[in-house]
Amino acid sequence: MRKKILVTGGAGFLGSHLCERLLNEDNEVFCLDNYFTGQKQNIIHLLNNPFFELIRHDITMPFYIEVDEVYNLACPASPIHYQYNAIKTIKTSVMGSINMLGLAKRIKAKILQASTSEVYGDPQIHPQTEDYWGHVNPIGLRACYDEGKRCAESLFINYHRDNKVRIKILRIFNTYGPRMHPNDGRVISNFIVQALKGEDITIYGDGTQSRSFCYVDDLIDGMITFMNSGDDFLGPVNMGNPNEFTILELAEKVIQLTASKSKLIFKPLPSDDPIQRQPDITLAKKELNWIPEIQLEDGLIKTIDFFKTIIK
Ligand code: NAD
Ligand code: UDP
Repeated sequence: MRKKILVTGGAGFLGSHLCERLLNEDNEVFCLDNYFTGQKQNIIHLLNNPFFELIRHDITMPFYIEVDEVYNLACPASPIHYQYNAIKTIKTSVMGSINMLGLAKRIKAKILQASTSEVYGDPQIHPQTEDYWGHVNPIGLRACYDEGKRCAESLFINYHRDNKVRIKILRIFNTYGPRMHPNDGRVISNFIVQALKGEDITIYGDGTQSRSFCYVDDLIDGMITFMNSGDDFLGPVNMGNPNEFTILELAEKVIQLTASKSKLIFKPLPSDDPIQRQPDITLAKKELNWIPEIQLEDGLIKTIDFFKTIIK
């Protein structure tokens, strides 16, 4: 039986890959987006599929549809975009979650929240396990995103406790791949675009801060596996690739893979920029038998190939 599935933020980077995969698995997909950071270009190849429907809507407003599952991905994810209109970002996470949870309650759908490693803030334990409560500055520049996502988690668990809504909370760590927005300011897209254009590669701070990068296909596998898991396993569960790299190492790898002549330049570190971030994925392994399989170099090659097609 074909499931009916709503994907909010479906025209974004992760959402478009999710819609594509769900359609390939013979589901009917409703892609909802307000196109703040998403683009029709990301899902244009799906428009001829009769089981794909596009809906322009903003999740801060109520919405009604009858579906079996909701993946709630709507929210700008890159610091430049979520800080552009901080209050709107909070509304999207908080009012958007209330609207989508209210919908899930009414139609008895299962609902998954795309949460984030940012709920751990600038973490004081390393790697981060799901039972760590985090170290977030509630009035910093990242707070609109971090606290919005923390409040969303709280809404999800309370709709479950009080209203028996079937929820899933997924804490996503840095994910990259084709269809990242070239101007979203995130490190992988910035470095690849700069390298391909032969511009200076901008290292913020001294480049010793580290991140672990997960290729989009691995993340989407995990997200769908989590949604399809038993109702008793609510999460929160971390997903990301635990292999850690410094930002300098990443820059060198991008230069090597693009055979670029770009030079490194150093710029000030943005405020509240976490020093280290690495997921502990023991829980995802145990409960979902999920581990990422694509290594950084292979994922970067695919991502570089994508950026070559859009950079003139
Ligand atoms: P993205 O910006 O490409 O996608 C977000 C999508 O949501 C866009 O299409 C945007 O237009 C849409 N949107 C934003 N506000 C909306 C609103 N009010 N109503 C309707 N649509 C709205 O970002 P992404 O990287 O694809 O991230 C998707 C989700 O995953 C986000 O919730 C993000 O917080 C989460 N996440 C992503 C990462 C990552 O590394 N990519 C890491 C952690 C969490
Ligand atoms: N970064 C950088 N140069 C850039 C963009 C980002 O050095 O052009 C750094 C940024 O300061 C951070 C890391 O790369 O330490 C990851 O940044 P991103 O915005 O991709 O993700 P997040 O900080 O949310 O993990």
